[in-house]
This record gives sequence, structure tokens and C-alpha cells, in this order.
Amino acid sequence: MLTFSLRGGIHPAYHKELASEHPIEPFPLPKRLEIPLSQHLGLPAAAVVSRGDEVSAGNVIAEAPKLISAHVHTPAAGKVRSVVQKPLPGGRMCDYVQVDVDEEATEAHEWRARSVDLAEVDAQWLARTSREAGIVGMGGATFPTDVKLSPPPTAKLDVFILNGAECEPYLTCDHRMMVEHTHEILQGIELAHTAFGFSRVIIGIEENKPDALEAFRRESARFPDMPLEVAPLETRYPQGAEKVLIESTTKRVVPAGKLPFEVGVVAANVQTMYALQQAAYLGKPLIERIVTVSGAGIATPKNLRVPVGTPVADLAEFCGGFSERTTKVVMGGPMTGIALPSLDYSVTKGSGGLLFLTQQDYPDESPCIKCGSCVDVCPMRLMPLKLAAFAKAGKFEEAKATNLADCFECGCCAWACPANIKILSWIKYAKNYVRVKGI
Ligand code: SF4
Ligand code: SF4
Repeated sequence: MLTFSLRGGIHPAYHKELASEHPIEPFPLPKRLEIPLSQHLGLPAAAVVSRGDEVSAGNVIAEAPKLISAHVHTPAAGKVRSVVQKPLPGGRMCDYVQVDVDEEATEAHEWRARSVDLAEVDAQWLARTSREAGIVGMGGATFPTDVKLSPPPTAKLDVFILNGAECEPYLTCDHRMMVEHTHEILQGIELAHTAFGFSRVIIGIEENKPDALEAFRRESARFPDMPLEVAPLETRYPQGAEKVLIESTTKRVVPAGKLPFEVGVVAANVQTMYALQQAAYLGKPLIERIVTVSGAGIATPKNLRVPVGTPVADLAEFCGGFSERTTKVVMGGPMTGIALPSLDYSVTKGSGGLLFLTQQDYPDESPCIKCGSCVDVCPMRLMPLKLAAFAKAGKFEEAKATNLADCFECGCCAWACPANIKILSWIKYAKNYVRVKGI
């Protein structure tokens, strides 16, 4: 059988067995939600509630001020305690709405099923539904989905790709969704296909998830009007990076600085399409997501259905607590995620993982031996050792001239480095410096 492959990339230890067989469990509503108003790419949403306001599950608590932004809703009924400023993972400050959750509220809030007349579904309907529900890309990019689904009139979209690669080690939340909610995900894709009339609908899943591949092959028969292709992807990181996935499945190359619509493609994450289905068929906004809690440092790895705004400390406790061996807590995957300086953060729409890692995951670094491994594995054909060296030396102009902006921060170079040099951290530092200083 044909398998789709990519240039460069690595084979890290996946550690997915820690959580992949754990079915999704609902996480009980916490006593207090701390909901950040910047859970997406673009401008933060602006609070429309204040201290003392009563809210119901699904109410808008912050509105998107401009196009590149997203509404934020409360996952549970309760009373607004306060609107406070706190850091996001990564350090940027942001407004949070704190909601004291009603004691009677449960995570099993009833959303009323409604039918969708596919004859009425077009691009405007799709964008409006996504925007009202506050849907963003849930693979980590958090780009507002209504913007992704509103290409310029000149764009001719003919290919849809479901990004089910989930190539980062440890993470299994998309895997569980694909096995447990195949039909709903296909219903979400059907809405997009109805609006755009794609000539190809590619379901891209890495070969290390045979049960998910089988589930989509089986369920595809119930959607005979879609040109579905279930595409097994070679298990190699970063197969799920959007531009990499587009090239490996369609042979189309998205030029540097351009977006997928410019080569006629829409690619979307598994949970994003599920969220679209929930918005369309239940009127349910994006108020929860599946999070993989895993790593050698946590007692019981799990895949949890978690309301956004849930404190990460509550997740750790629910999973039996973390051991003394834990040296690093990461929000997201180990390759692209963000290390947390404390547990005083919340789950957001983009949080696919909460990892409790130990010293063996992050050994000490030594000097560069010029082996070239980082160059060999870079899917963007960059010179990671040079970029890191320029960043260390404060030579940001030179880093920029060495195609710094083309790095999409997959972390392959750092993983491949036998000297354990934190290449990606240096690259991120240089990119931030270039952006802030306007170089
Ligand atoms: S330089 Fe950037 S794109 Fe290339 S391997 Fe490193 S992180 Fe990935
Ligand atoms: S992989 Fe590490 S040691 Fe090898 S050239 Fe790159 S930075 Fe240097």
C-alpha cells in the first residue's frame, strides 16, 4: 500500500504507549475556571463580563475585536469572580476571566441536537458558524478557523486534508478522538466539502495508529458523496507540520511566507473538525478539548475531556500527582511545547498535552562537534547550527539573512544534536528578538 513520506525528519522515542490505550475520560468541572482571553493567534478577545455577573454554560464572555481573533465562551455556569491579568505559557501577559462554577453545574450539560440542511451550507455559513463558536486550529497553531475558511475570491480550493498525523511524542488525544469520534469528525469534514466542493478529501494518519486508519476506512462508506482517501503516512516527525503534510500528500509546495490556500489546500486538525461538527449539530461553542496528560513523572497518564480554563494543577491531581523525578512540566508536546515555570496556568483551546518529564528527557549540553546532523534532519533545508551560533553571538541580522523566518520550530535539529545543544531555544530567541526590534 502507498505510504506518504517527507524529506528530513526524525524518529524520536514516541512514548505514546503510556496513554494511547486510555479511552477519553470526562474531567469533572473544577471549582473555579481561569479562562485566558488570548487562546488563539491574533488579537486577544475583549471581556464583555465583569465581577459579579452570572453566566451560563456556553455564554460569550469575551468578543473578538477584529478579524484575526476569536470569541471566548464559558464552559460552565457560575459567577464571574474577577477579570485579572496573568501570564500565558511563554510569559506574555493576558486578561483572564475567573468564574466560580455553580455547585450544581456538571460537565454533562445538555446541548440540544439540531439538524443541518446541507443545501444551506456554503462558505459564509461555515465561516459564521466557526466564528460564533470561537473555533480555532486545535493542532497547536490556534489560527481562527473562520479566517482559514474565508480565502480570497481568487483562491481555488480543491483539496482538503485532515491532519491526523499527531506526530509529536507522548500525545495521543487526536488518536483517541479519531478512534472514538470518527463519524462526528467526518460530519465536520462533510460541512467543509459541501461548502467548497473539494475534488480530493485526504485523511492523513500516521501508520502507528492502525486502529484510527481502520476506523476511517470503515466509516468512509457512510459518506459516499465525499471523494475520501484514507492516506497512511510514514511515522516520522514532523509529518504533521502543515506544510510538510501538504507536500507529502499532494506534492504541492507552499512557498515560504505563504498560506496553504495559495496552493488550493485547506488542512485542518482532527479536533478542529470535531468542534465544527459540535457547533453545527449541537450549537455548542468551543469550550473544551481533549488533553493528553503523560510522561514518566505522572502517576497515571490519561486522555481527558477538559473544559478550557481548567487549572493545570487540577489535571495533575486527577492523574494521581507527579513524582519527585519530574524536572520539567511542558504544555503541549515535547518538541514544540512550552515549559511551565509553575502549575499556575490553565488549559486553553490549543493545549493538546500536559507532560511531566524527567532528567533523562533533557540531558546537559556540550560544545558543537560540527557533525551536521541538525542540517540532515531539517525539513526546511536550513542550517540550524549557524542559526543557533548567530543567536548566541547576538548576530541577529546574520540569522535573518540565513532564512531564520523559514524555521517552523519543529525541534528536529535539537533532537538530532549529539551535543544536546538547545538549538530550537536559540532560534526562538532570535525570532523573538528580530520581531520585537523590527529587524
Ligand atoms: S531549523 Fe527549524 S525547521 Fe529546521 S529542524 Fe530546526 S526547528 Fe525544525
Ligand atoms: S547537530 Fe549539534 S553538534 Fe552536530 S552540527 Fe548541529 S549543532 Fe553541532
